[in-house]
Amino acid sequence: MVRRGPGSEGDTLVDHLESFSQELLREAYLVGAGRKARGDEARIYRRWRTLFLPSAWSRLPSGPPRTRARLEEFLKVGYVDRAVAPWQDRRRNRLLRSTVLWEGRKVPFFSASVQLAELPRREDRRALYGELAKVWRSVAEEEEGVWATFQEGTRSLGFSDGRAASEALFHYGIPRLLRETRRFASSTLSIYAPLLRERAEAEGLAPKDLRTYDAGRLLRGMGWSASFPKDGLVPFLRRFLRGTGLPWGVFRPDLEVRPRKNPRAFCAPVRVPEEVYLVLRPTGGYEDYHTALHEMGHALHFGLTDPALDPVFRRLGDASLTEGWAFVLDLLFLNPSFVRTSLHDREFVRFVALAQIWMLRRYAGKIAYESRFFRDPTDPSLRSLYVRSLQRTTLVRPDEEGSMADRWRSDVDPWMYTAAYLCAWMFAGAFTELLERRWGERWWSRREAGAFLARLWSHGLHPTVEELSEEFGLGALSLLPLERLVRRALGD
Ligand SMILES: [Zn+2]
Repeated sequence: MVRRGPGSEGDTLVDHLESFSQELLREAYLVGAGRKARGDEARIYRRWRTLFLPSAWSRLPSGPPRTRARLEEFLKVGYVDRAVAPWQDRRRNRLLRSTVLWEGRKVPFFSASVQLAELPRREDRRALYGELAKVWRSVAEEEEGVWATFQEGTRSLGFSDGRAASEALFHYGIPRLLRETRRFASSTLSIYAPLLRERAEAEGLAPKDLRTYDAGRLLRGMGWSASFPKDGLVPFLRRFLRGTGLPWGVFRPDLEVRPRKNPRAFCAPVRVPEEVYLVLRPTGGYEDYHTALHEMGHALHFGLTDPALDPVFRRLGDASLTEGWAFVLDLLFLNPSFVRTSLHDREFVRFVALAQIWMLRRYAGKIAYESRFFRDPTDPSLRSLYVRSLQRTTLVRPDEEGSMADRWRSDVDPWMYTAAYLCAWMFAGAFTELLERRWGERWWSRREAGAFLARLWSHGLHPTVEELSEEFGLGALSLLPLERLVRRALGD
């Protein structure tokens, strides 16, 4: 295929959107997978600058209201992201170049971040955490640039601040999410605290001594690593696909370890549905399997999107929807019949329940914090608010040196993506209950369930989680269904 540049005759806005997205996602894939030493997303935005001028959204092509709305939202988000891109590049590239001095060797920052949870001695964890904090501090200027530019961009779109812009362009109901996460945090306290204590004691720690550098260790489940070997990962994924009759060949797994590969797994739908990457850096253990299921949810969603669907709905839509499909798969670890196929161990089930509640409670803390952060990222009270919000929900104290506070700007995704995760958990919990009502607890071994999911995935990003909830009678979105799944796993 001949690659055309922007502005070729006959190209429409949608063609441009498609070519731009491919370039950007390919770059994100190559850099995130550690296949390219430095990223240059700003170059791609410069190349496609005419897409993101305010004149672009005032001249939208005619079409159905939903198509026009999605295009307008995409162009406005891109207008801000284009301005932020040079700062994001500088920040990312500095992290990619950064090393940490550990045991007399220079270790790439990303590799050192993975190592933290592997250190059995807490003095070592504390020391390595201190070294990692030096790297976080080294990108302070870039982070300030990212958020100042983001805020300025959302203001020039006519919004009062980043929170108002995120609420309008991504349709998040933040006050409702704040209420629901507060309710969840208080209603799960009585199950969370004992689970945390149990896991801390298993690691030889008193719960009151738990510090932020211990959390990764507690949640890695190193004790069960032998049941989740690296070379068993692909057969594990294939077993799920065989049971549901879903295909393996619709995405490209990238599971190699490379020194600069980002430890945060991701799915890159470069071309939907033809070229979808599932990128994961295996560390050996439960977390690989759990994350791989999550990313495979995204990969199947994009890989099974109908190629004849309007390209706008193959690309653009509600992020909670694709996150929701990803959670439907990773929540299988709360399903007793599914877990028994990997490991028959009561302790392990309690560990998985802890990891799930911890994650939700962490996001409850994050949304409370971010609802303030996105109002004004220069507010001087944010550093301490970040630490307090997370400590309140996770019950884990910051490190002695106060380095945790240095993450107050980096532990935040643009456009309040935290809200998308929370909506997705609500949807996935309710949808899992639907799958179980229709095909039983062992829905994951039923071809009819696979066919049902494949049919929904073929609609790409067209529906919203609210519409699907309505269509299948799932009720108003809340964290209650997920809470019920956790309690069932615990035999509560
Ligand atoms: Zn995801």
